[in-house]
Amino acid sequence: MKKLEYKVDVFTGIRPSGGLHIANVIGSVNTIVTLQKKEEIGRPMVFVADLHALTDAEPKDTQKNVIEVVKDYIALGLDPKSCDIFIQSELIEEISGLNLYLSRLITVSELLRVPTLKEKIKKNMEVSNASVLLAMYPIMMASDILLQKSKFVPVGQDQQAHIEIARYLARKFNKAYGETIPVPNILTLGEPERIKSLSGDGKMSKTNPSGAILLDDPIEISLSKIKKAQTAFAGEMTDSLDSLLKIGKFVANEDEKEKIEEIVKRHMNGGNVMGEFKQVLSVAMQRYLKDFQEKKSKLSDSEIFKIVQDGGKIAKENAKETIKEVRKSMQFEYIS
Ligand code: ATP
Ligand code: MG
Repeated sequence: MKKLEYKVDVFTGIRPSGGLHIANVIGSVNTIVTLQKKEEIGRPMVFVADLHALTDAEPKDTQKNVIEVVKDYIALGLDPKSCDIFIQSELIEEISGLNLYLSRLITVSELLRVPTLKEKIKKNMEVSNASVLLAMYPIMMASDILLQKSKFVPVGQDQQAHIEIARYLARKFNKAYGETIPVPNILTLGEPERIKSLSGDGKMSKTNPSGAILLDDPIEISLSKIKKAQTAFAGEMTDSLDSLLKIGKFVANEDEKEKIEEIVKRHMNGGNVMGEFKQVLSVAMQRYLKDFQEKKSKLSDSEIFKIVQDGGKIAKENAKETIKEVRKSMQFEYIS
């Protein structure tokens, strides 16, 4: 069997939904930022999934959201020197092409069995009003991954089924047309942290801003949410307090982390120390948000365009090469 070479070490996507909150950072953004520092895994390539937004009922402000989200990620530590960032729709021709070729290798019923799709259909829509694009979502994701000949795709539990489809399609393609596309590997990430809403109702989410620390909000608003946040009675540990502690440890410096640990000990021994904890948390959060907002405000739109243009060139080159090989394997290349 021919040994196929990978082109990209780590491949991952971000959704262009603006207005991140601190739980998005802890549960998702930070994983990508950390990956870029792990040299043993290799250089990451990050794409902004603006085409995936088309599966929403009414995508809006796509371009503005794309710029915003790239600014967010860079302000949060993604370093364009250590990774390549590009915008998915820049590769529309190659993605559409591979989508079409891959679509014949998977059945309608196989697609409908993808658990994430089943869930979405159950939650928001029925088969009668779900778009074909939504059903094709896993194929589109496979195209994104396979065009770049990605070696590792880091994913949480919820996305594993999609990567399995990408692996399945690569194998099926190779079997049908000869060894062409290297099969990507899943890089399993631990269970994501689930941060609760500060107001105690469910998880922190954009949909419920009253319990969320939104990174772009004026800092006083976030501090007042911390003041009102649910904690626990002395001597007790609750999910709400556990989440606040996770947030605290994330934004704290070393001194503050030690202080928090010491406060928790006193709390578990029956001390009345939640006010003191919130004080430390507020100071750390204020510094964290100020730093983020300052960094973000220094990033200009033109700087972001330049970054995604550079990344786009690399991604486009990879995708063009892959499509050429795919067409050759399928005997669709008439002119060499
Ligand atoms: P929405 O309310 O619109 O669903 P959201 O706040 O849930 O928004 P998403 O855009 O759905 O945010 O999720 C983006 C990423 O952030 C996902 O990887 C998700 O797992 C992570 N994430 C979202 N909410 C939390 C949370 N409360 N704790 C930890 N991670 C979270
Ligand atoms: Mg969500």
